[in-house]
Amino acid sequence: MSPAYTSLRGEGKLKKRADTLAGIMRSCVLCPHRCRVDRTAGEKGFCRLDARPMIDSALAHHGEEPALSGHGGAGTIFFSSCNMRCIYCQNYQISHQQAGETIDLVDLSRIMTDLQDRGCHNIDAVTPTPHLPGLIGALLDASQKGLSIPLVYNCGGYENREIIGLLDGIVDIYLPDFKYGNDRDACEFSGVDDYVLHAASAIREMVRQVGDCLEVENGVAKRGVIVRHLVLPGRVENSLEVLEIIKRDISTSLSLSIMSQYTPVQTVASHPLLGRRVTNEEYETVVNRALDMGFDNIFVQDVSERDLTPDFDRDTPFRWE
Ligand code: SF4
Repeated sequence: MSPAYTSLRGEGKLKKRADTLAGIMRSCVLCPHRCRVDRTAGEKGFCRLDARPMIDSALAHHGEEPALSGHGGAGTIFFSSCNMRCIYCQNYQISHQQAGETIDLVDLSRIMTDLQDRGCHNIDAVTPTPHLPGLIGALLDASQKGLSIPLVYNCGGYENREIIGLLDGIVDIYLPDFKYGNDRDACEFSGVDDYVLHAASAIREMVRQVGDCLEVENGVAKRGVIVRHLVLPGRVENSLEVLEIIKRDISTSLSLSIMSQYTPVQTVASHPLLGRRVTNEEYETVVNRALDMGFDNIFVQDVSERDLTPDFDRDTPFRWE
């Protein structure tokens, strides 16, 4: 199966989309913050990024969901900064401290084709939203040079539905977080008071584009949506609210990745709720409720003391890879 962007490029539309996205940066509304700053003139909004894409690292990642990592690894590119600032972010060094370097489109394109040459199954763009014009510009260049693996849009869920609409025919696999089922938690932990509306609306648009069933060939995902949810300690209610919204407003056929790996970072080490790992009981309550609701495509994790947070000060951020 060829990735969707190959056809779009053949029709001459991929360049138009890249140009449209680049133009949006002149009064940036790439995400719901709608900062309306001119990033092409060097102005910066909430994400603190100008018009140039910025990345921390790229690697064959074997720790994503099995359908994404397969045997060759996901071709993961970690983009710097973020359009959210979650106090417990597991990628704190790149999202808050903005570790990374700016990169031009040809070098980013080369990284993509290198990942393909190394046997990766996809291009897994992590926190891509503020970098979309650069990402799609580089994808166009890489596609002209033979890139033929799917693009995975691995985002935080705080998305502008109209911008996700511009990715129709470009992205084959959406991998959004659905972090919160209520805006109190979203506000307290991530500083945004309209997360639920935007996440639900964006995921509905993703499903409209690629369907609610994950298409898998030889154990490797080719097209579809996987919704990730990180269970937070002491906030099982939030997780259950997320499940209710997906069931009510989207689909129980969606693949869910219910994650147990939450690890307190230094900044929340003494937080009354977030200063510990999730318990087995908390995690099982969420997974069992999902099963009771009729979700049966669920990626699960063990609850363990293993620290799965990356360290972006290392050459390879994941200690076990
Ligand atoms: S991408 Fe950055 S500048 Fe643009 S709206 Fe979002 S936070 Fe603001």
